[in-house]
Amino acid sequence: MMSRHKKEKGDVLNITTLLKRFLAVCALMFIAGSLPPLFAWSRDGHSIVSKGAVKNLPPDMKFLVKNIRFINKHVMDPDMRKGVDRGESPRHWLDLEYFGSYPFKGLFKVKKPPPEEDYKIRSGKLPWAIVETLEKLTAAMTGDDDEETLLLAADLAHYAGDGAVPLHTTENFDGQVTGNSGIHGRFESELIKRYGSSVKIGTFSAVYVEDPLKFVFEYLIESHSRLEKIIQADRKSCWEPGIYDDYYYDRMWGELEGLVKDCFQKGAFVYASLLYTAHTNAEKQISILETLKN
Ligand SMILES: [Zn+2]
Repeated sequence: MMSRHKKEKGDVLNITTLLKRFLAVCALMFIAGSLPPLFAWSRDGHSIVSKGAVKNLPPDMKFLVKNIRFINKHVMDPDMRKGVDRGESPRHWLDLEYFGSYPFKGLFKVKKPPPEEDYKIRSGKLPWAIVETLEKLTAAMTGDDDEETLLLAADLAHYAGDGAVPLHTTENFDGQVTGNSGIHGRFESELIKRYGSSVKIGTFSAVYVEDPLKFVFEYLIESHSRLEKIIQADRKSCWEPGIYDDYYYDRMWGELEGLVKDCFQKGAFVYASLLYTAHTNAEKQISILETLKN
């Protein structure tokens, strides 16, 4: 039997359930009287990662390709949850400095997330958020739950996309340690809003990931290695301290175009590989279950 997530289907999802979810989030945000924090790729940035990933998936994963609009509609859901769930925020970053210094070899000995109280100050839990979402996605694919599959694929796109932003991997997340205050929004939102449309994701083959936690650790360490260049470009691009005008963004793009493209290319590869891994593991589970049935 072919599992449903392999079928080519349009957006035939349960609209009522989605509407209920949306209204529940709006109601909670209204009650909480808060908006989600601003730190995240813009929707444009996350969509570049997800679109670039699905176009490189193998042919038997067309279900996700067909529903990329739905995935991108929900790609910011994890950021929206920050407004209603205090535990959500640390799931979007990892302060690598918490685990030592570059190349962060000590990180690979960490199997469980650091103690809960440390999330409030630093450390973060992005790798574990990615692995947990991957496991839930695999279960949804195994259980033939199309709606849950797509919502979790959107969550995974978001978390994988956050990992592509070097400023999500450091305690200096807004340049506050190095005198580059406000760099987070300038880099991941405004710069991408202005120049993101010129980023094209190249072709690649998604890989099966044996050890997702290790895979994500390596991804975040690579992302972190791009940090210093961003900080330096921010300094060079100001003609006057504190003035972030067209001149600044033109110079920033001139300095960082290649780096930004590398961030997106790697983010798309990581997301596609995690999707492919979930799909492969779900197929294995389905065939085991069918063997047991017969
Ligand atoms: Zn985020």
